[in-house]
Amino acid sequence: MSALDQARALLPSWVGWAGPATYLLMAALVSALGARLATAIGLAGQGKSAESKEAEPHWTERARLAFPARALSAVCLVVLPAFWAAFAHLWVGPLTLCSPLELGIAAGLAALAGTATMHFRLLRLVLPNPLTLRYWLAGMLTLAIVIRPILPIAVVLALAAPESLWTGAGAAWVASTVALLALAMSGVSLLIARALGLARPPSKRLQAIVAAAAERAGQSPRATFELRWPMVNAAAFPMGGVLVFSDAALRTLEDDELEAIAAHELGHLSEPRSIQALRMVQATLWVPLAAARPIVAAYGVAGYGLAVLAAMAAILWLRRIMRRMEQRADAEAREQVGDGGSLARALEKIYQANAVPAVGWARGTHPHLYDRLIAAGHPPAYPRPKPPSRIRLYVGMLAAMIVTAVLLIAATWAPTYAACGETDDEWPCLVWLTSGYGGSWELGTIGEIRETQGQRSDAIVLYRAAAELAYEPSPDLARLVALLVLAGRCEEAAATAEQLKQQVAHSPGAEEHLTYAQAILASCPLSLSPAPRVEYQ
Ligand SMILES: [Zn+2]
Repeated sequence: MSALDQARALLPSWVGWAGPATYLLMAALVSALGARLATAIGLAGQGKSAESKEAEPHWTERARLAFPARALSAVCLVVLPAFWAAFAHLWVGPLTLCSPLELGIAAGLAALAGTATMHFRLLRLVLPNPLTLRYWLAGMLTLAIVIRPILPIAVVLALAAPESLWTGAGAAWVASTVALLALAMSGVSLLIARALGLARPPSKRLQAIVAAAAERAGQSPRATFELRWPMVNAAAFPMGGVLVFSDAALRTLEDDELEAIAAHELGHLSEPRSIQALRMVQATLWVPLAAARPIVAAYGVAGYGLAVLAAMAAILWLRRIMRRMEQRADAEAREQVGDGGSLARALEKIYQANAVPAVGWARGTHPHLYDRLIAAGHPPAYPRPKPPSRIRLYVGMLAAMIVTAVLLIAATWAPTYAACGETDDEWPCLVWLTSGYGGSWELGTIGEIRETQGQRSDAIVLYRAAAELAYEPSPDLARLVALLVLAGRCEEAAATAEQLKQQVAHSPGAEEHLTYAQAILASCPLSLSPAPRVEYQ
């Protein structure tokens, strides 16, 4: 049992867990608050258009107004958990029962739960079709496992990253990273989704639709799946030759519309090999992001910042190529379904059901709906909508970050206002110890309080733990020598005095403690009875 474990056993059990518990609670609640505030700013003014009841606004206008809030909510979903995970170490002290990494992971999950609750609430408000919590959670799982598996893989890899890449462990990490990303790109994770009941083989209807599209395109997918996913969508995995359709798409779209979408996805399967290779490159750009630990260790935070910027620039450049691939797939679909009417109808229904604006911020892999409809030969009857407000996005993001930072800093500093050592009360020192700031001083002070109360054996344990945490020659060691001499434990006292001597030799400036310790050690074993009271400050 280490000195710290022995000291912890003498203190109330909450000292080991109250700090992390407070932090987790804050991560969940403050994240929810930040996300709620951000989405409220994103949605502000929505009420005005709802008041003018004489004309229900067109779906493109509703989607446009709701979009900044949705974007903010999605940003919060990623940024806030990362933020809370990053600052968890501030709440881990020497007596805390979990490691900084463990608290970081738990805090990230707590913050994710807080922001996800607000995200779900917003989606219920914004999406035209009703959404149950169960269905939404299944959809999120489908998204994480099948559609965007790279994100959870990158998080796991980042946590597992070794200190250096130029070692056996580093090489193994890089190799397994590339292998995992390649697997994710090929759609292999569909096997996991099937086992979880999130993916199933195509119904007779979907089989017939895909077969018809495949015959026209002269290209068949290797496999087709239906996904449990409330988003009206379909996707292709060119590397694995797999097509997937959401169950929501099968409910929302007519047969000819689904066939047009199938033709679009088949268009992705016939992409040239060079594009498939670029898609793989796009995935491997996550490797430098996940290698935060070794890159920071070798090149510092600035080096990691540069790596992130380079990866982002490459990702943005590749997105333009991928956008051209979307246009190519749309063109193939239009060619195969005749006049493009079913493609246009399908696209409009998809965007409407998902409440995605007809004109966005021009940053995704897909062109704007408005332009896709024009390209399909069926320009919309309504005028081109304005893009959603970007200012709301920035203001909302700023508000969420300010609220989070202020509350986190306030809560982190609060325990340091406890006046440890000013009275005979242990409580303020215990509060320090639950935060990440408590340590040697607080343990030594509790030791002194116990000593004055006559609990000398407690004081011995606490001084030893305090000395272990001290950065400089510790007066606690001198106090420890005195108590050990009083207890007649001369050998231990001598060893402790020797330890103090070593410390003083390395960093002078505390010779008085050593002189005192050696003086009292000289009288060991004490022959006086009862033991004299040793006054030492
Ligand atoms: Zn596409």
